Amino acid sequence: MEFSDEEIELYSRQIVLPEIGIGGQEELKKARVAVIGIGGLGCSTVVSLAAMGVGYIRIVDRDVVEKSNLHRQHLYSYKDIGYPKVEVAAKRLKELNPYIEVDPLPIYVDETTARDVVSGVDMVIDGLDNITTRRAINRACLEVRTPYLFSAAIQTYGVASLIIPGETACLECLYANVVDEDLPTCSVIGVHPAILQLISAIQVSEATNYLIHSSSILQDKLLFCDLKSLSMEFIPVKRVSGCPACGEKMKIREEAKKYPMVEEVCEREGVATFIINPGKSMKLPPEVFSHIIREHKVEPIILGELGLTFRYGGNLKISLLKSGIAIIEGASSREQALEIYKNIIATIRLDCEKGM
Ligand SMILES: [Zn+2]
Repeated sequence: MEFSDEEIELYSRQIVLPEIGIGGQEELKKARVAVIGIGGLGCSTVVSLAAMGVGYIRIVDRDVVEKSNLHRQHLYSYKDIGYPKVEVAAKRLKELNPYIEVDPLPIYVDETTARDVVSGVDMVIDGLDNITTRRAINRACLEVRTPYLFSAAIQTYGVASLIIPGETACLECLYANVVDEDLPTCSVIGVHPAILQLISAIQVSEATNYLIHSSSILQDKLLFCDLKSLSMEFIPVKRVSGCPACGEKMKIREEAKKYPMVEEVCEREGVATFIINPGKSMKLPPEVFSHIIREHKVEPIILGELGLTFRYGGNLKISLLKSGIAIIEGASSREQALEIYKNIIATIRLDCEKGM
């Protein structure tokens, strides 16, 4: 693999490291990774991986930038509020390093889409904020046999472990019966931006190590870090034979869900907020956003390439992503959010049939 003089200069300060060298830099250029979730953890991690020259980075996120993200998600600025995170991130990463490929996917990750999201990469890196989605990613990674760098952070502490399918403990060996309802969220108990930087630094170090040398300190271990005591502990972990995901008695896949599905998330700007998951990712036509603005006379707040944020019916704010995901702020209930969504999608369908 050849590097241009420009690339050699770009990476010169890391190529001199014995841990990387020119051979390691070549491995990074060949490498393909997926970062799932580009919030607090994912933002810092994708910046470093892009700048270090990882050849292909898939970035996956279903959300738009909001004000309460800015204290810890430093890829985004005030002017990006309302834009899909993957759109802003892809632009910034390409500016940062024009020699890599960035693939932005504004999709909802669950057991229907997880397999596609983790296929065709050498490693999956966790930037998620809930165990339900992590479980779907863990199972998909076991299925396609892709290493999964599990990580999480909240308040002042964080954890990380590298899961190698068939070799190490998987996420459900560690957290078999944990459900999101039992776990705190950062909107309730908070998160210190510094713990995200710390766990992200560990992700970057271990991911590049693994991509170059096929080994990591985080195999068969769960790292636990706490900023309060500046402590780092390694807890040995083992595969569990009865694990529902990787054990002998693997559970049959959960039954098919009904789509579209509504998820109520934390309030945004003081109003109830719902995210609609369309199930299989849609590909709305390129002209769909300008069409909605023109024909349905909505007041646009943000018109991006991958998403449109607009006012709707007086007091609602809706972000519609190209993949068919919608974020509805101000609906009074799940049922109302779903009803609004179905109406919007139905008019788009009708318009498509008539030809936009
Ligand atoms: Zn397991």
